[in-house]
Amino acid sequence: MERTAAVVLAAGKGTRMGSQIHKQYMELCGKPLLYYTLRAFEESSVDEIVLVTGPGEVSYCQNEIADRYGFRKVSCVTEGGKERYHSVYAGLKAVRDCAYVLIHDGARPCVTKEIIDASKSAAIRYGACVVGMPVKDTIKVSDENGYAAVTPDRNSLWQIQTPQAFRYDLVFYAYTRLMDSEQFQKGVTDDAMVVETMTKEKVKLIQGDYTNIKVTTPEDLEIAGVFLNRIYGNR
Ligand code: C5P
Repeated sequence: MERTAAVVLAAGKGTRMGSQIHKQYMELCGKPLLYYTLRAFEESSVDEIVLVTGPGEVSYCQNEIADRYGFRKVSCVTEGGKERYHSVYAGLKAVRDCAYVLIHDGARPCVTKEIIDASKSAAIRYGACVVGMPVKDTIKVSDENGYAAVTPDRNSLWQIQTPQAFRYDLVFYAYTRLMDSEQFQKGVTDDAMVVETMTKEKVKLIQGDYTNIKVTTPEDLEIAGVFLNRIYGNR
């Protein structure tokens, strides 16, 4: 059975955007940012979408986004938690019976159904995979005084995006263990880390697209507008 769910995370506060409106509801080309993220999943081969949102935003998301735009694959809108990993765990618990799950940042509206379908196929093939792209810039690690300490070999560095896709049993087991081990919770920024640390399973890296950006700061909104116009401009 290859039934696949998507957990779309939209419970962050988006403080780096410096706006009163949460970034996932900010409008781009006349629609909320979250609309584009959900549209890509709705048009993909995933079977159901669990939308994780902030406290007090569940009915807004259900009525004004899922129902308003007719996203029939949204099976559940549920409340997230303080940190991203709390929200992921809430989403995983809300998923119905499925063999694979894709975890995606709601703040990446330029994801395409091609990237989503490639993630699903890679999860079926490898059990655990994340989308990313080779870095373009040289990356340096700084010391505590702000001096360059190490320059890792650029050829082996990737910038990691979402979706991050897994066998459901594997990622649910990893997150259940994480929730019980406070020492590992600090500094968790993605799902692959949780699977790597909690299960020792190998996570395959697959190429996404440089356009699959995370909208974090105001200039990202402008760039996302350009990419979304390219993806949906004539559809
Ligand atoms: O904060 P960060 O950039 O890592 O957020 C990535 C995604 O995770 C965003 O889509 C955000 O809404 C979501 N998130 C969440 N719950 C949190 C923190 C972040 O769903 N507590």
